[in-house]
Amino acid sequence: MSDLPPWLDAKDDRFYPLVLPNAPLETLAEGFAWLEGPVWCADANHLLVNDLPRDRTLRWTEDGGVSLFRQPSHFANGQTRDQQGRLIACSNQRRCLLRTELDGSLTALATQFDGHPLNGPNDVVVAQDGTIWFTDPLYGGGTDYEGGKHEMHLPPTLYRLDPAGTLAVASRDLPGPNGLCLSPGGHTLYISDTGAQFGPDPTRAIHAFDTATLARRPFHAVTPGNADGIRCDEHGRVWSSAADGVHCIDPDGTHLGTILTGVTVANLCFGGRNRARLFLCASQRLLAIYTNVRGAP
Ligand code: MG
Repeated sequence: MSDLPPWLDAKDDRFYPLVLPNAPLETLAEGFAWLEGPVWCADANHLLVNDLPRDRTLRWTEDGGVSLFRQPSHFANGQTRDQQGRLIACSNQRRCLLRTELDGSLTALATQFDGHPLNGPNDVVVAQDGTIWFTDPLYGGGTDYEGGKHEMHLPPTLYRLDPAGTLAVASRDLPGPNGLCLSPGGHTLYISDTGAQFGPDPTRAIHAFDTATLARRPFHAVTPGNADGIRCDEHGRVWSSAADGVHCIDPDGTHLGTILTGVTVANLCFGGRNRARLFLCASQRLLAIYTNVRGAP
């Protein structure tokens, strides 16, 4: 095996074929407050990403770099697209999901549960059948920096919004349900749990839910830092944000290796041609690196 460059750290021999020793870790742009919610739009050939505290959504293209997509973003955090290509964003400020219709108008989804407004959704995924899974921890209303402090009346929850519009509790077992991703095929929903995120001993767990039975099993504990945004590749490995970069975790739970960024990564997504490039929300910087795997479709 050839040596890896200093930004790639193999923990297991299975990491080597997944990365490219001659692919740089690129800084695409910098000077942001805190990046979140990257989503690749293949039809438009651009990345959308939220500069959360600055209440704006940005667009990045290979040729044009970063430009403003919209402001306000309503303090959008995690986001994804549904099967029809509509952007679905978690809004801290509006305390709901905001779906951007194809004509550009906004539709608020999941505005309340049990008569209470949500706390501030954090991350969202859409399954192939149109089911929307999203997390609603206690972070959204905790700071004025990320959309405004507000009273929160609901416990930390993983919700399921079915295609008919019925909102249901999928789990209330986790203290800090945060990032989400679906395995290829959609049978497993991975969820990161950051618990008391800024305390001396934060929860670092990633759990795996069976989407049919909602049975939950521990999958992996990330260190240093904790797992926030997570994404699956085409073979079901989980690429997780961490305090030192991005950790690649085998479906068996083994930490295979790390992309070292030197700063906290909050979120990530696969994108670009063939979904083979990882885009990283690395604190104040937008980074990218080509990998030798493709993101889950
Ligand atoms: Mg998050």
